[in-house]
Amino acid sequence: MSDAGLRRFVEAMPKAELHVHLEGSIQPETLLRLAKKRRVDLPANDVAGLERWFEFRDFQHFVEIYLACSKCLRHPEDFQAITDDFLEEQERQNVRYTEAHFTIGTHLMNGVSGSEVAEALAETLGRWQRRGVGLRLIPDIVRNAEFKWADRTVEWALDNQDRTVVALGLSGFEDRPNEPFREHFAEARAGGLGLVAHAGEHGGPESIRSVLEVCGAERIGHGVAAARDPELMATLAERGVPLEVCPTSNVCLGVAPDLASHPFGALWDAGLEVTVNSDDPPLFNTTLTGEYLATAETWNLSAEELAGLSLRALRRSFLPEERRRAMEAEFVESFARQGEKHLDRAVVPAAGSRKS
Ligand SMILES: [Zn+2]
Repeated sequence: MSDAGLRRFVEAMPKAELHVHLEGSIQPETLLRLAKKRRVDLPANDVAGLERWFEFRDFQHFVEIYLACSKCLRHPEDFQAITDDFLEEQERQNVRYTEAHFTIGTHLMNGVSGSEVAEALAETLGRWQRRGVGLRLIPDIVRNAEFKWADRTVEWALDNQDRTVVALGLSGFEDRPNEPFREHFAEARAGGLGLVAHAGEHGGPESIRSVLEVCGAERIGHGVAAARDPELMATLAERGVPLEVCPTSNVCLGVAPDLASHPFGALWDAGLEVTVNSDDPPLFNTTLTGEYLATAETWNLSAEELAGLSLRALRRSFLPEERRRAMEAEFVESFARQGEKHLDRAVVPAAGSRKS
């Protein structure tokens, strides 16, 4: 990016993130340390080797990496270690609040104690909250995992609401049906949890329609396939359903051939509630700041529009209203201050795209 001032503004502006996976955020060094400690064999035993292994072939390869990472997490302190790493990185990027997917079902299947992990994570999240860095979890049902783990995921989510959990999520292969999880989402909703689902990433527009209808999804993870269906785009815009867009992830996993042909610009111009997210940053060699910079460069967004995207992520989070409003005021004040410092003007967040 040629504009050094804009870059510094993006680095410094306060951010919120709605779509990132805790297990997919393990730094290579931490993964190597945990693998050694837990005697898990990885296909590489140094950082360079791991980075080569991380290079993407397809979604199946990605799932293999993901499961291998999860195998290294056996004890409560392992979960604390990856959460500390993750939040240190979020703090460095001035990400003040994050809602992260966490696949508790996989860990329970690996023999981890759900209550011990919950206890450990509550302690870690409380400690970071006192430093002004918030994190809440979205335990996700994996469509292609054994059915009983869906039951256990909802149970764990409801047990840990308020302390660590804000929503129930859905992930995994989109060619599997959503219908078997209708009741799980109804139960989560009745219990006061938010509802989110991955859809329209590898799947088409019908996958998005299905999670809206079957799961009552309030936010769509990715959702970029909506760009292929004007009617669906109109529905999403009208209902104001946010899309958690992860541009670099989509390019790495072959959802879009490159950023220039990624549908973010089309969705943004159509007035959809797009947000910018990093998904699995070390695996895709990116960061949330990197995603904002790439978005700014590819679609020629101004500081005002980037601040607007950041504020939107905070607004569409599941934070309790009072807390959210207080944070919104802090963000707005900080955009103005960081704008004065790096761009010689007080940046006022834009509400949407220039076209919509
Ligand atoms: Zn995801």
